[in-house]
Amino acid sequence: MFFKRIEMHGFKSFAEPVTIEFDRGITCVVGPNGSGKSNISDAIRWVLGEQSPKMLRGSRMDDVIFAGTASRKSRGMAEVTLVIDNSDNMLPIEYSEVAITRRMYRSGESEYAINGNSCRMKDIRELLMDTGIGVDGYSLIGQGKISEIISNKTESIREIFEETAGIVSYRSKKAEAERK
Ligand code: ATP
Ligand code: MG
Repeated sequence: MFFKRIEMHGFKSFAEPVTIEFDRGITCVVGPNGSGKSNISDAIRWVLGEQSPKMLRGSRMDDVIFAGTASRKSRGMAEVTLVIDNSDNMLPIEYSEVAITRRMYRSGESEYAINGNSCRMKDIRELLMDTGIGVDGYSLIGQGKISEIISNKTESIREIFEETAGIVSYRSKKAEAERK
């Protein structure tokens, strides 16, 4: 399983549609300050369901929508699609390629889709649970995460091990069953 490509339209500095292809192995993004490198990792976080504007380096959720420049009009919608290679069937879904889409309008309304079919954010969370690539997974390492891992917080270390061991979905199903 690996990220194949990301498509962004109206997301932060990506006013026009931009597609970035990834490959197996390591991808490095280089560019001048302010050119949008971190906006790409923000897009990955966002499409995976991030709900905190702070985690996306903004103060409000609609800060992710292209705000316009002196020469370009602002956009009314941000859309990101992340395409994941699933030929090893790591994701519990019958597709060898899985496209996760999130769309947000200025009204605050958000839409999600898996391979073009509308779904809830919960479905995306469940699909990615225990794979490490969800928004709470360990494969998105922000600056704060590193200090969290090396700090003494046993709870957060335990959470990382539980995700790695693949038991988070069982814990979540148990909690859901107990609520019913
Ligand atoms: P550095 O090397 O300094 O880390 P970077 O390449 O990571 O830079 P980013 O932080 O990804 O740069 O991009 C910052 C740019 O994105 C800024 O120019 C900022 O104005 C622009 N930007 C962020 N949000 C929006 C938005 N909603 N609309 C338009 N532009 C935006
Ligand atoms: Mg940066």
